[in-house]
Amino acid sequence: MSKLVIVGTLAFDAIETPFGKTDKILGGAATYIGLAASHFNIDSAAVSVVGGDFPQDYLDLLSNKKIDISGVEIVKEGKTFFWSGKYHNDMNSRDTLATELNTLADFNPVVPEDYKNAEIVMLGNLHPIVQSSVLDQMTTKPKLVILDTMNFWMDCALDDLLNVIKRIDVITINDEEARQLTGEYSLVVAARKIHEMGPKYVVIKKGEHGALLFHNDHVFYAPALPLEEVFDPTGAGDTFAGGFAGYIAKTGDTSFENMKNAVIYGSTLASFCVEKFGTERMQNLSNSEVHKRLLQFKQLTQFDIELT
Ligand code: AMP
Repeated sequence: MSKLVIVGTLAFDAIETPFGKTDKILGGAATYIGLAASHFNIDSAAVSVVGGDFPQDYLDLLSNKKIDISGVEIVKEGKTFFWSGKYHNDMNSRDTLATELNTLADFNPVVPEDYKNAEIVMLGNLHPIVQSSVLDQMTTKPKLVILDTMNFWMDCALDDLLNVIKRIDVITINDEEARQLTGEYSLVVAARKIHEMGPKYVVIKKGEHGALLFHNDHVFYAPALPLEEVFDPTGAGDTFAGGFAGYIAKTGDTSFENMKNAVIYGSTLASFCVEKFGTERMQNLSNSEVHKRLLQFKQLTQFDIELT
């Protein structure tokens, strides 16, 4: 079993979907990643920052899931990162209504001593300089570094983003962001261009249409489970990344074959995330529910064709 470092936001989110609207609720990339990774019973630590306004209950929630939060800085006089978004009717796209960096603007991440030799590092969506600084603190070269990012950082810190992308093994990115990063419409060409930027593995997330894993000339595709209820896609990408990273940390196997399973685990966990607003569904998700859905996934994608 490997140790996992999770870097990302702990946040307040205000979300609007065609099904309703929330006030400030718990959100943030590190929250979703941590909740997903907690299903693998691995040693994990969150590295993040919050303000004095961040409820102790939210921190306890993470601790109770056995996520080490000693790397979460609390700036007593500061305010927690806030993000607000509104989904379009198809729920595959959204507009960001507000991004208030607050304490995140001066965040200097500190990796806990015990985690500086972690084998797996999950760099959640954050300023690329912060992501780089975490890699600088690792005392041994991690076996696998996974990075998630978004258009916000492409718009405001592209050079820094390209610098950190050079240093990682796996990038997870959504289809529109892959297109923006490369200027290519075809996702196959976009993935090839991203390979050339550094990462040996490229995961392109396509929302309700699943996810693609590229490695040189190999491609693997996992659909998303067709769901009856989709309330709020917020955090699905982070949940996917947390499931992916958690599975790799649990198995310690970074081969392409094993990454296929990691994609399936990521997709399965993400399918729960969207069923309720914010982190609600992920907070009490049981391992048996996950297991059941993995079986459904297998049935969805399995077929027996005789080729002559
Ligand atoms: P996802 O839906 O997986 O893309 O992730 C949504 C989460 O990302 C929300 O909980 C937000 O708090 C967080 N988020 C949104 N914008 C940013 C940003 N610019 N940097 C870091 N985290 C963000």
